[in-house]
Amino acid sequence: MLAKLQQIVQRVNAAANLHEALEIIVHRVKAAMKTDVCSVYVRDPATTQYVLMATEGLNPRTVGTVRLAAGEGIVGLVAARQEPINLANAAEHPSYRYFPETGERQFSGFLAVPLVHFRQSMGVLVVQQRTQRMFAEDEVAFLVTIGAQLAASLSYAALGSAISPHEPGPPGPVGLIQGLPGAPGVTIGTIVLPSPLADLEAVPDRPPRDVVQEEARLRRAVRETQHELRASADRMQGRLSDETRALFDVYILILGQDDLVDDVAARIRTGNWAPAALRDTIAEHARVFEQAEDPYLRARAEDVRGIGRRILLRLMSDVSAARKYPDEAVLLGDEVGLARVADVPPGQLKGIVCLRGSVVSHTAVLARGLGIPAVMGLGPRDLRSVDGHPIIVDGYRGRVFIDPLPAAIQAYRRLVRHEGQLSARLADLRDLEATTTDEVRVRLGLNVGLLTDIDVAANLGVDEVGLYRSEFPFMSRQTFPMEHEQYETYRKVLKAFAPKPVTMRTLDIGGDKPLSYFPTTEENPFLGWRGIRLTLDRPDLFLPQLRAMLRANVGLNNLRIMFPMIGQIDELKAARQAVDRARRELAEEGCECPAPAIGAMLEVPSALFSIPALSRHADFFSIGTNDLVQYLLAVDRNNPNVARLYNPLDPAVISALYGVIREVRRCGKPVSVCGEMAADPGSAILFLGMGLAAFSMSASAVLRIKWVIRSFSCRRAKQILYRAMRMESADAVRGMLDAELARAGLGELVLV
Ligand code: PEP
Ligand code: MG
Repeated sequence: MLAKLQQIVQRVNAAANLHEALEIIVHRVKAAMKTDVCSVYVRDPATTQYVLMATEGLNPRTVGTVRLAAGEGIVGLVAARQEPINLANAAEHPSYRYFPETGERQFSGFLAVPLVHFRQSMGVLVVQQRTQRMFAEDEVAFLVTIGAQLAASLSYAALGSAISPHEPGPPGPVGLIQGLPGAPGVTIGTIVLPSPLADLEAVPDRPPRDVVQEEARLRRAVRETQHELRASADRMQGRLSDETRALFDVYILILGQDDLVDDVAARIRTGNWAPAALRDTIAEHARVFEQAEDPYLRARAEDVRGIGRRILLRLMSDVSAARKYPDEAVLLGDEVGLARVADVPPGQLKGIVCLRGSVVSHTAVLARGLGIPAVMGLGPRDLRSVDGHPIIVDGYRGRVFIDPLPAAIQAYRRLVRHEGQLSARLADLRDLEATTTDEVRVRLGLNVGLLTDIDVAANLGVDEVGLYRSEFPFMSRQTFPMEHEQYETYRKVLKAFAPKPVTMRTLDIGGDKPLSYFPTTEENPFLGWRGIRLTLDRPDLFLPQLRAMLRANVGLNNLRIMFPMIGQIDELKAARQAVDRARRELAEEGCECPAPAIGAMLEVPSALFSIPALSRHADFFSIGTNDLVQYLLAVDRNNPNVARLYNPLDPAVISALYGVIREVRRCGKPVSVCGEMAADPGSAILFLGMGLAAFSMSASAVLRIKWVIRSFSCRRAKQILYRAMRMESADAVRGMLDAELARAGLGELVLV
């Protein structure tokens, strides 16, 4: 049974579209279970009815016409209850509903399993038998397992597009798609799909600029790939195992076959550019191999894809450079890295949309630094056809509209105007102090990472840089920056803000901040080799960074150094010793550097319970709520499956923050918050209530938070905090904070 299951899953995954996937399922399941009927009913989001979408055994003409509401008939009952039903004779069941046109009367044995995804019924999978019989336990388990696989695919496919049984087509992502807020703001722009270098699946559709030239480009790429392979095989002569040698031979053979190249060329002539034509041709050829019964032939599918990736690499190498961007570009991709952002000419990037990630992933942080809206975590979906299409990005509510209707465009134009007016009003706060109504002065800091952030920050009237994310310059490169290159960058940052303090955090890679040139493969990267753990293990990376920071500080003396992901006292001590060592070495070389203040981030839960000991080795602390919340709630901050559980306003989180701020103050050390919670107007009230006197955030939030601080007294904020801590859910806290903001006349900051 397991082998059959795997085969079905494999074939379904290789299907070109939803319609084909359903056809494969009904055909294969009926054969594997030796039943007389297999059918799939899919929930139509427009009517919420369950529609017969594919069948093998019932009258095929009834596909698309048989529809049942939730709770109606046995199929509707399975969908409503979200439990399988196994019956020896379906007609005897009180919920049985007969559709004469299906020819169903002849079947008795009936087994139906619900297709459930994230608590939602997406459809029902049914098998039927002429004879009266209950299905055996292993048969039920088999169908349930197939159903579980199918449910996830259905959810992605059905989102945003009503089911049209007569024109199934590929699942399209048009319309409204709900994701997660990433960076505030709204924009109306044009989608740009970044072209990943060697990911065939992710290549977008795009019309060729010139068909003849495109075909020539393809043939050139194929020729170059052939040469490259031959040269590699020759170079490796005698050093290759027989198996690897055979692989080269297979590749060269595949490339030598005219049908592959001719198929791609034919697709170019039908109006697609070479990379997308290659994508479809490779998928088709790979599918043929995948469907073979012989395991050796099936494995050749991977060879075909391998060859496709090599050709793609050649094709794309000249594309990135030549790319033209629209004036209002919205980058849309699985993940949009810093390098992709850097490709877009300044001023033309108006929004970022990612299928993965959340408000605290680094793409979102980057967007906030740039002051452009971002929507994250749309979930996996096929986006190849939307390059160049219009899009609305609503970074407040975490939604996008692809190919929006005129009414939506009009409504969002109004919102864009309203935003402009609010910004103009907030600009009046620029030169005023961040002081509460009971005269408590609060320090406002900036989170920066890119040199471009500095220009934005120059006239914002902040007190300091509360967090300089030093990994950003590492992420936008192809190799590790040398010490002198780092020195140049740090010097510019320190100089731009001097004499205001700049808190530079040492390299925090790993987790959701991988470096393309330093790949680490870990089962669980957020609990893995990241932040200070990695840099302490790699003095060859850590010391040059510390030396560069210390040297950059000479004559300016506004540097503070902070370590990320401190979880144990020993880590802080070792990191401190590394700073001492770097200073000593520099002094030996004749460069006397002032001793900077040393701080630790509080973002690993164990640190929260070690404040007195940490205080003996740290001069200051900064709370990284982005990581702290994910570790306290055990919710991966970038995983769309659990994104709704990532809730910084969870009363448990509020209590933990309250406790740690009180403890640090008791130990007499300064503390700030530099995670995203500091930029949230509602959370800012809570922090004021906790007695927090320093906030750090991206540029786009500074004036809003200043407005909040200037509108509340610490006394009032404390009352609100105590109410929040007595509440039982994050939603209740959010509702209360929104109401308080509105009552204080800051309703415009409440994001609906
Ligand atoms: C945090 O974790 O809150 C933080 C500020 O650091 P980062 O988001 O860069 O991990
Ligand atoms: Mg962090």
